[in-house]
Amino acid sequence: GGKDYIMMVRTRLPAGLLNSQQMLEELDLCDEIGNGTLRITSRQGTQFHGIQKSDVHQLMQRMKGVGLTSLGACGDVNRNVMCCPAPFKNNELHDQIQKTSFAIADHFAPRTGAYREIFLQDPETGEKTRVDENGNEIVEPIYGKHYLPRKFKMGICLPEDNCIDVYTQDLGMIAIHEGGKILGYNILVGGGMGRTPSADKTYPALGMKLTYVSPEDLIGVCEAIVKVQRDFGNREDRKVARLKYTVRNMGLPEFKKKVEEYFGRELPEPHEADVTDFDDHKGWSAQGDGKWFYGLNVENGRIADFEDCKLKTAIREVCTTLNPGIHFTGHQDIIFSDIVEEDKPKLEAILKKHNVVLTEEISNTLRWSMACVAWPTCGLSITESERALPGMVDDLEKEVAKLGLQDEKFTLRMTGCPNGCARPYNSDIGLVGRAKEKYTMFLGGRLLGNRLSYIYKDMVPADEVVPELVKVFTAFKEQRNDGESLGDFCDRLGQEKLLEATGG
Ligand code: SF4
Repeated sequence: GGKDYIMMVRTRLPAGLLNSQQMLEELDLCDEIGNGTLRITSRQGTQFHGIQKSDVHQLMQRMKGVGLTSLGACGDVNRNVMCCPAPFKNNELHDQIQKTSFAIADHFAPRTGAYREIFLQDPETGEKTRVDENGNEIVEPIYGKHYLPRKFKMGICLPEDNCIDVYTQDLGMIAIHEGGKILGYNILVGGGMGRTPSADKTYPALGMKLTYVSPEDLIGVCEAIVKVQRDFGNREDRKVARLKYTVRNMGLPEFKKKVEEYFGRELPEPHEADVTDFDDHKGWSAQGDGKWFYGLNVENGRIADFEDCKLKTAIREVCTTLNPGIHFTGHQDIIFSDIVEEDKPKLEAILKKHNVVLTEEISNTLRWSMACVAWPTCGLSITESERALPGMVDDLEKEVAKLGLQDEKFTLRMTGCPNGCARPYNSDIGLVGRAKEKYTMFLGGRLLGNRLSYIYKDMVPADEVVPELVKVFTAFKEQRNDGESLGDFCDRLGQEKLLEATGG
């Protein structure tokens, strides 16, 4: 017999938005075709795991049946557009950035007929077609014949809420506003987490401020940036093909000149405004229209029925009985929206009935942690991540509480390889898979996401991660300045002094 191939399939969801019917279909699909679990990704999309090659068609067609697609969720094109998903109503800011994220997703969607030809038609009888659904020849107005040199990631946020980690995007947009109106967008270019092990020329990087553009010019300027990357990005070596290398190799001023040339106009200096906070949208919030939304912590984004907690069943029941809007966050969590006042206790009762722990009852350690998928379904993983972090969090939250530091907010992010899907290089604590059951420990980033961390220790065995962190927390408790966060403390000391403070 031949080999059995299994696939991972993503859903592209700009701003992480879908409705209850789509959510229910995704859950049915993961049960009927996948491995019985659905994964919320760190880019507000979903992943089905364990899809047999022979079932891919059926999956894609059923996704299409409820208005979902995987087109643009993978490949050397613009990926899922991230945007603060908070469903505040009667609030032009959130509404406008979310609409902008949909417009950008549409504008940069590949026009290819291949997706339709390969996945949506009958493979035996379907036409081989190079025309679109209206019979017009397909051209890729932005990507051209060869697409981009590498994947491309965009995200939009408000200054006071960087929940989408704007500094880690190839192209980040910070919506600057005054009096409830968006005045324009600060454009950041050249962020990206991915590193390739054994390739020193690769590195994580934060976006750099390029310019400030009006809402009317936004898509045009984004298109100019994408086209400069298309024409000047490295096509010889995929390891250094992301925009972050293009910008740094050209130099920011030179890059900006090119973008101006493609856009056809000079571009102003960036606005002085920057990100100032991060809201994870967990717990109950008033939407502003008399209804409520509830942000539920989903440990590492995994929707499944576990022995002790039937999360998948709970979400199903919430969708069938309350029909909420669904919004995935960049922290791999889920928001249920449009809950009327009298349904608030119903939602909580459904969650409790299935042993789902309410956001109000979890520790800060768990609340601000996330892990990438890694083993067993990510082909690039070097070691455990999603299956390793929960145990570490259980131990660490107890130790943190013993030190009286349970009210501290710090981001803890783990990945199974240096690719950095859970964005570990700008968090307070980053644990990056280095070898089997060994991690590089990064410290000194921060919740705000606008500072890179440094390597504190390399090759830390899995069972020494928590003891090592306890030493760091102890030093933090003893030597911190008033109000200083863990990340700021680690950054102030730097690796050498921190090693001294912890006794190595
Ligand atoms: Fe991403 Fe690496 Fe984690 Fe796989 S193991 S999900 S490539 S960070």
